[in-house]
Amino acid sequence: MRSPCVIVLGAQWGDEGKGKIVDLLAGRFAWIARYQGGHNAGHTVVIGGRRFILQLIPCGILRGASKAVIGNGVVLDPQALVDEIASLAAAGVDVAGQLFVSNRAHVILPYHRSIEHAAESAPGRLRIGTTSRGIGPAYEDKMGRRGLRVADLYDPALLRDHISESLAEKNAIAQALFGAAPLDAGSILETYQGLAEQIRPFVADTGALLNAAAARGESILLEGAQGALLDIDHGTYPFVTSSSTTAGGACIGTGLAPTRLTGAIGVSKAYCTRVGGGPFPTELAGAAGDDLRRRGNEFGSVTGRPRRVGWFDAPLMRYAAALNGLDALVVTKLDVLDELARIPVCVGYRGGDAIPPTVAGWGAIEPVYEQLPGWQTSTEGVTRWQDLPPRARDYLAFLARVSGVEIGMVSTGPERDQTITIAGSKLEQLLGAPTGAAAQEGARVRGNSARP
Ligand code: GDP
Repeated sequence: MRSPCVIVLGAQWGDEGKGKIVDLLAGRFAWIARYQGGHNAGHTVVIGGRRFILQLIPCGILRGASKAVIGNGVVLDPQALVDEIASLAAAGVDVAGQLFVSNRAHVILPYHRSIEHAAESAPGRLRIGTTSRGIGPAYEDKMGRRGLRVADLYDPALLRDHISESLAEKNAIAQALFGAAPLDAGSILETYQGLAEQIRPFVADTGALLNAAAARGESILLEGAQGALLDIDHGTYPFVTSSSTTAGGACIGTGLAPTRLTGAIGVSKAYCTRVGGGPFPTELAGAAGDDLRRRGNEFGSVTGRPRRVGWFDAPLMRYAAALNGLDALVVTKLDVLDELARIPVCVGYRGGDAIPPTVAGWGAIEPVYEQLPGWQTSTEGVTRWQDLPPRARDYLAFLARVSGVEIGMVSTGPERDQTITIAGSKLEQLLGAPTGAAAQEGARVRGNSARP
């Protein structure tokens, strides 16, 4: 049997609680790799009551056994990496010998940040709601074939020329378009030379490492950042991120051969949220939305921004399932719905479920809801399927049925042990072994499970 080589990704617009789930699964894998995004990911992991926010380093690093990779598809802010390594060290986690950074990852430079910030604040420009960390502009330079890669940091002449030439251009653009003050090439060069030395021990040909590991039969978890609906091609364009968040991006962004993959797991909330602008058909406004936001503590872990909240959107989940070939679903934050008397679920769109390619098309969507009865009992911390209130089980079975994806795991709180794993599920098969002591016999949450 082939060893597991599995993608775990957000099946909505990000913030689905992937951090906790990847952390939970990470101990079962020899390697954990990030394949896209930058230090805007903001995974939150809670271990023993301590909160870790990891923005760049794969959160699997908190499981000592795993080797962690920042793949070529990630854009790297070396300062953010150095800071994150230092904060982990302060918490007693030493990443030496465990963390590998792709020599082909593109580097974020200070002008990427300043241009993005100026563009997002400029009057008359479409606000995407980015975190202004320079991630989008770094990807633009990558695709424009004028980027700087990690390996280039170690060629002094190339680095000096690149910074001075790029900066001359970027300063002119930022000045002309946004009236921004120019940046100084000398200080950027000095800073980046220093940072390059600090990250040098971690730099490697990570594609070669991963393919060799797979050839040796070692297991690999590919960790998505953001979510499927923020994919640059397949998401709600232009309200998307600048990289390929979907399963296809996992190979591009690591160099791991597609034929090595053995499956894809989607992570979804029991409801739905999104940060920033853009389409959100099931959005819940007003006091009810405020209430759900408060219960779910839906505020960005990196930016603190309030997240938009709404109901589970089955047509979008079917879309995400098809795009990513999802084999199994993990449903998080079930406990957030505990007090509701009834829970709407969007089961379709009036006039058809086709996912529109334009913002105008999204605006015309009318969700069709089914109202499910709430369980109005605490599910917080429940670890066994049979201990869930029957209506909560029915709700989950309903989500699986309307999504067409089997549920293999349910999260009932932020802590690792506040999790239900479903014995005999497809997810368990994908992981190559029973998911541990918490796995229970008999519970099945399949796409075709009985109606509530
Ligand atoms: P990620 O980027 O997908 O990992 O998501 P975030 O870390 O931005 O947001 C998830 C938040 O929900 C974090 O604060 C988690 O600690 C928390 N969380 C994860 N799973 C659950 C759950 O099942 N219930 C509750 N109440 N909180 C959860």
